[in-house]
Amino acid sequence: MYSLIVPAHILWLGGLIYFGPSQVYGVAVVPLWILLGGLGLEIGYHRELCHQHFKLPSALQKILYSLGLLTLNGSPLFFRSLHIGYHHPMADTPSDFTSPRNGGAYNSHIGYLRKATSMVLLSVRQLRGERYFRLTHKFYLPLNYAVLLVIGLIDTTAAMTLLTVMILTYHQNAVVSTFCHSKSGYRNFETPDDSNNQKALSFLTFGLALHNNHHAAPSNPNFAVKRGEFDAGYFLATICGLTKIRAS
Ligand SMILES: [Zn+2]
Ligand SMILES: [Zn+2]
Repeated sequence: MYSLIVPAHILWLGGLIYFGPSQVYGVAVVPLWILLGGLGLEIGYHRELCHQHFKLPSALQKILYSLGLLTLNGSPLFFRSLHIGYHHPMADTPSDFTSPRNGGAYNSHIGYLRKATSMVLLSVRQLRGERYFRLTHKFYLPLNYAVLLVIGLIDTTAAMTLLTVMILTYHQNAVVSTFCHSKSGYRNFETPDDSNNQKALSFLTFGLALHNNHHAAPSNPNFAVKRGEFDAGYFLATICGLTKIRAS
């Protein structure tokens, strides 16, 4: 993963300098971000794959996971392994290598990825048996580069727009590790970790920044529990009808 995130940032910066900021379709950024960051990452990867909040049919799950593949957050297998195998059970303990407690903000934002790739895959073995998870993990890097290359050959502005949103969605998740496990924000629940809620970040993270609420009750699909809190991810899932669908 580290070997995609750093080149992606260099490519993006180089593209902006070479082509200029007008080489991004500004009007497409928000809809694309809702599609990738909201439906792919927060709803597909996090809420459905990791916590099974919605019980969607397999084909719909795979569509959402495939959107998540373009968010620079690793393969579905990697993400679930890290989140369920390490993040929730070990949050802010000495074993939590994603925590700001163990290496500061840089570590929790990006540095942990240097250690993560070899460690996390030990934790969730059952998904490896499924072809989709095995293949998307094995070909994660070439898949991402191929999508960018093919789109870039057709239209460089579209490729730069996609890359902009991919980088945005990486930081959408990383800011939660950095800020919602630091001793800021507010807590509704006395959890054993440092998780806290950050209302200002809630929209930008599709609700994940209501993080203390989520750590206190990971199986609750709606992270907003008190008056004045709003879970944009749950709202998005509701208006898309995902809260009503039940796999047969
Ligand atoms: Zn957390
Ligand atoms: Zn979670």
